[in-house]
Amino acid sequence: MNLRREDPERAKALLELIQELYKGPVRLMEVCGTHTVSIFRSGIRAMIPQGIDLISGPGCPVCVTPPEEIERAMQLARDPKVVLLTFGDLMRVPGKSGSFEDLKAEGADIRVILSPLDALKVAERESWRKVVFFAVGFETTAPAVAATIIEAKKRGIRNLFVLSAQRLIPPALRALLSGQRVGIDGFILPGHVSVIIGKRPYGFIPRDFGLPAVITGFEPLDILEGVAMLLRQRKEGEARVEIQYRRAVREEGNPKARALMDEVFRPKDARWRGIGVIPGSGLGLKGDYAEMDAEIAFGLGPPEPIPEPPGCICGEVLQGLKKPPECPLFGKACTPERPVGPCMVSSEGSCAAYYKYGGEGHA
Ligand code: SF4
Repeated sequence: MNLRREDPERAKALLELIQELYKGPVRLMEVCGTHTVSIFRSGIRAMIPQGIDLISGPGCPVCVTPPEEIERAMQLARDPKVVLLTFGDLMRVPGKSGSFEDLKAEGADIRVILSPLDALKVAERESWRKVVFFAVGFETTAPAVAATIIEAKKRGIRNLFVLSAQRLIPPALRALLSGQRVGIDGFILPGHVSVIIGKRPYGFIPRDFGLPAVITGFEPLDILEGVAMLLRQRKEGEARVEIQYRRAVREEGNPKARALMDEVFRPKDARWRGIGVIPGSGLGLKGDYAEMDAEIAFGLGPPEPIPEPPGCICGEVLQGLKKPPECPLFGKACTPERPVGPCMVSSEGSCAAYYKYGGEGHA
């Protein structure tokens, strides 16, 4: 994909606007991994002023899931009575004792599903098995997981369990800003998550931290417009949350999808890879759905933290503290074919994007 071929006139106008609004070095965090990939594919970095540093954030759900939660799902998968269902990106993430793919090769029944609703079909078809859905994701997929749980209860399905490793984005952004380890001058906020949550949950960014934030779509021109909107806010000296991605995101988000989440889930404290425990940033099942909570059904205790793979700086990459080429293993011991950390596995991982599209320091 080439940005200039998409709509050359619009691209030219936006690049000129960015040039005009640019007043000096600025660090903008694109929260979502899909943004990172789009930025690389389109070559945006080479077209905007060099002083605009686009840094990747914690918006890859597979990457932020800590090793101990992956290990817990693997433990369940080792039980011959269990079928473990998960999304494809997780299969190759290296855990303490290999990946899901390795475990499957050893005989564990681990299957990739494309939608949470597929879990219902498996549970109904194989009613004699214990079917565990390892749910990893953000607000984008949580409503579909909630709808699956509600439907399973309605149909009286008793062999489907959910191991929830789901996360919420706004608490993570607050934690990043409160930690003050990384200098951020503005956020390119995630389009998909914002379709569900709308604009309000980000209000703390301008209010408490005085920073601009723009909910941005994923096309290269969306991202350019998002960058221009952030620079304009900085120039005007008034920080606010704006929506660039108006064709998909409404101010109020999707109240019906949020109602599904509220019906089934409760916020809980959760550990993020590299960031640590963030209060209220995870989703657990509410008491009404306790019989489907894999933690309760299988008597799992709280996960004990497991150290990162030696040498992997994925945790720092996810906070925008370092860029993938700063990792000593990048492109040497760690490649998409032989990944050491999850940031090199996931299609939304920063290391994979830098490797595939030739980020700084990696020709
Ligand atoms: Fe981890 Fe590999 Fe990325 Fe280094 S390059 S931070 S080892 S995933």
